[in-house]
Amino acid sequence: MPRLFYTPPTYGGHSPKYQLLPFRYTRMDGEELLVNEAGEYQFVPNGVVDQLVRHQLSTTTGLYQTLKAKHFVHDGDSSPLLDILATKIRTKKAFLEQGVTLHIMVLTLRCEHSCQYCQVSRQTADRTTYDMSTASIERSLSFMMRFPGKHLTLEFQGGEPLLAFESLRYAVGVAKELAAKHGKTISFVVCTNLAVSTDHIFRYLRDENIKISTSLDGPAIVHNANRLRSGGSSYDVTIANIRRAREWIGHENVGALMTTSRFSLAYPREIVDEYVAQGFGSIFLRAINPYGFAVKTVERTGYDSSEFLSFYGAALDHIITLNRNGTNLMEVYATLILAKILTPYTTGYVDLQSPTGAGISVLVYNYDGKIYASDESRMLAEMNDQTFRLGNVHEDTYLSMVQSPAFQYLLSASCNEALPGCAECAYQPYCGADPVRHHATQRDAIGHRPTGTFCQKNLGIITDLFRRIRTADPALQRIFFAWIRNKPHGSLISCD
Ligand code: SF4
Repeated sequence: MPRLFYTPPTYGGHSPKYQLLPFRYTRMDGEELLVNEAGEYQFVPNGVVDQLVRHQLSTTTGLYQTLKAKHFVHDGDSSPLLDILATKIRTKKAFLEQGVTLHIMVLTLRCEHSCQYCQVSRQTADRTTYDMSTASIERSLSFMMRFPGKHLTLEFQGGEPLLAFESLRYAVGVAKELAAKHGKTISFVVCTNLAVSTDHIFRYLRDENIKISTSLDGPAIVHNANRLRSGGSSYDVTIANIRRAREWIGHENVGALMTTSRFSLAYPREIVDEYVAQGFGSIFLRAINPYGFAVKTVERTGYDSSEFLSFYGAALDHIITLNRNGTNLMEVYATLILAKILTPYTTGYVDLQSPTGAGISVLVYNYDGKIYASDESRMLAEMNDQTFRLGNVHEDTYLSMVQSPAFQYLLSASCNEALPGCAECAYQPYCGADPVRHHATQRDAIGHRPTGTFCQKNLGIITDLFRRIRTADPALQRIFFAWIRNKPHGSLISCD
């Protein structure tokens, strides 16, 4: 029988003292940063990676023992450590066991605001044909109950969902009945600008334990420039209603999100200070998304990734200084990434997941009964692109949805471990795939990562955070861990 392969000594002369485990690396400021499959990291002097892969690193050094303990290499007595590595990777992917846990119901596309960057393509407040019917509400909720998770989140979105308050009441009632029947619990969140809120509505939200996520873009000069509203200042209405909402449903049950427009870029400190002044414990510095009116107004509202990263860095510097001086304010996006870097756990934030959260951890039931893979997918649909329509609550089963060509297309680009560019990227365990955004901006779900804003933003922010981690400043470490301990749940940070 002819030998098909040469023996190992043919290639190296002797068996190596250690084996490599999968890892990626990048160079940063004169050092090398190694990251393994479980997201553990290690900074090493320049040249160590070369020694490591040539099996020339001395096994008697402290660095070797560190790399072994952190699962970058293994040797003869490593087998228990390999089991630990497997457990860590399983823990990072634990979100897959639950199926879809975040269910978004678009009760109406109507809204009485006309924000410059509106990503959902809102309709005017009188156009009730853009409201969800009771039949679609019922079918959506039945669909939602088919997922295995014992605890689900139902998030009401719009438009402005409080314009369809009776539909919201109906949906909550049916959802509670169905949840009791299926042995599930549900958390409710309403994403609202609060402009049409009344005491009657607040009383109901309090009695039903429904949380509020509202929009605050910064001080009046920024908020009113971004969020236009006929009949007066959106800022004044929002601030007054945040106070009322807190009185009714409790301070901790009212969150706020901001969107960064071109105009906002000049005000990083002022936006942060506004969140402190209004008593918020967190701020989410969100870039504008390329959907809806934001595409039409891009000349006025858009900017490139480097401009956003400058804004983000300045705001983060200011937030950290405030924390050092005793003011507790976390930046949500940094916290989500830090949790991935510094802990073994996953975060539940669908944009930074692999496989992607779209369709796998989140589904959207649109006002017309159609099911979309994510909030961005339904925004795209309002721009006449139905690529990520996975089905219809009146026609489809779970099986027909996951077998649909739309779902298959989504899945084909959903694992960043296998995407060109990401597969070799050191930041891959901390990042996501976002096929919907790549399809929207590059007409391809995989896309060309280096020229995409998703990659540019994440590359910039993760590098920024590693530079800060690398300083090993104990006060900064304490701030970062305090943020991670208090991080908000994913469901409160997905509203647009
Ligand atoms: S999107 Fe960019 S930063 Fe994220 S894993 Fe891919 S290559 Fe890395």
